[in-house]
Amino acid sequence: MNRWPGWGRLPAPGPARVLRPELRSAPIDLAGAAPVLAFGRGRSYGDVCQNSGGVLVDTSGLDRWMDFDPHSGVLRCEAGVRLRDILQLAVPRGWFLPVTPGTREVTVGGAIANDVHGKNHHDAGSFGHHLRCFELLRSSGERMLCSPRHNPAWFAATIGGLGLTGLLTWAELQLAPVCNDFMLVHTRRFRSLEEFWEINDACMAQWPYTVAWVDCVARGAAQGRGVYMAARHAPPQERLPPWRERRRSMPLVPPLSLVNAVSLRAFNTLYWHRSRTQDELLHYVAYFHPLDSIAHWNRIYGPRGFYQYQCVVPPPSMREAVAELLRRIARSGQGSFLAVLKTFGERPSLGMLSFPRPGATLALDFPNRGQATTRLFEDLDAVVRQAGGALYPAKDARMPAAMFAAGYPQAQRFEGYLDPAFGSDFWRRVRA
Ligand SMILES: Cc1cc2nc3c(=O)[nH]c(=O)nc-3n(C[C@H](O)[C@H](O)[C@H](O)COP(=O)(O)OP(=O)(O)OC[C@H]3O[C@@H](n4cnc5c(N)ncnc54)[C@H](O)[C@@H]3O)c2cc1C
Repeated sequence: MNRWPGWGRLPAPGPARVLRPELRSAPIDLAGAAPVLAFGRGRSYGDVCQNSGGVLVDTSGLDRWMDFDPHSGVLRCEAGVRLRDILQLAVPRGWFLPVTPGTREVTVGGAIANDVHGKNHHDAGSFGHHLRCFELLRSSGERMLCSPRHNPAWFAATIGGLGLTGLLTWAELQLAPVCNDFMLVHTRRFRSLEEFWEINDACMAQWPYTVAWVDCVARGAAQGRGVYMAARHAPPQERLPPWRERRRSMPLVPPLSLVNAVSLRAFNTLYWHRSRTQDELLHYVAYFHPLDSIAHWNRIYGPRGFYQYQCVVPPPSMREAVAELLRRIARSGQGSFLAVLKTFGERPSLGMLSFPRPGATLALDFPNRGQATTRLFEDLDAVVRQAGGALYPAKDARMPAAMFAAGYPQAQRFEGYLDPAFGSDFWRRVRA
């Protein structure tokens, strides 16, 4: 029996038995293990990767390459391969992930099950858009090949399907060409949300990657200030800057969260004032995955752990909704250094339960302060619901069932594709 918490390190879920298959072709008795759920690397913050009282299928043994064509950039691999492994294989051969989330520790299976997005959503859509096909193992023992042509409804249910349609054993994806492992990054500060929207409109048209950090504690005239970072893969260079990843670690869990009102205000003020308008070459790890260089960084929030709140609000109301969310967060005095604002593009997601959709997405970490934090979330939920938005299951550990139903109108249709032996703490919570 094991208790594997999500990335937020919230109080541990009930114990689950763990199965660790080594061969994708070996028969796995999924029906006999019910309720069962695949587990990638636990980079989801809450309970989409938890299955209290059931069985977790640890996919870390399903980590083999199956095929890679360095001319076309088509890669087939087992579902437990991490995005980190793909980058290590592909970048020296001139290929990059078409979409990468903010950590490369995620598995291919986890990236499909949450249909993850990156800073280039407006340019490239989400992870599902780059899948050519995958194999889904059902608890009946059936192995289904799914693609836009084969079993297309199962393809759409499994992309963003929260691991509930069966076990992904392998997937084939199309990588994107690059010239080297550096990014050309354009950074500039903004003083208000109005300035953010102006910069964002201009940069979205010109840069494939865009994202902004916002100072979530700034109030009054400073509210909505932040730092905008747009980027593209660097063109061929005669000389590239030297780069080596400096790996550090948060060695222990401090008795109290290191993120509090004082440290937060000090960090945010310093970070904003020190940021300059500049163009620079940055290694892709420094641009996309800076937190991966600090092992166990999630321990800084102390023994009670933390939540991430990530919402998307659609275009008609997004400007007012983002301003109101930031006002309520600043007023609460909660939040963390990690506050990210970006806009998604128009490309419709393929998955029935995919989170990305047109609009603005705001993501913030919050130390777990018990009722004070849950009260704040209820306050934020009201703004998101009023705006017609949704919360992201990959980051969630507490959204009420009504909030899920409002944000995911295809949930009922999706239920037709659930594997009867599969379940998760998240699903039992939001479909109670
Ligand atoms: C620092 C950080 C930054 C992040 N940034 C982003 C971001 O920018 N964009 C974004 O979209 N997400 C982001 N995330 C969230 C993360 O990308 C997702 O939660 C991802 O799904 C985690 O993958 P995992 O392999 O760890 O899977 P887990 O978290 O272990 O599981 C996630 C889901 O995938 C299912 N699953 C896993 N493997 C399989 C399989 N083989 N078959 C069927 N189902 C499977 C599980 O059942 C579960 O429902 C971030 C997370 C962290 C910690």
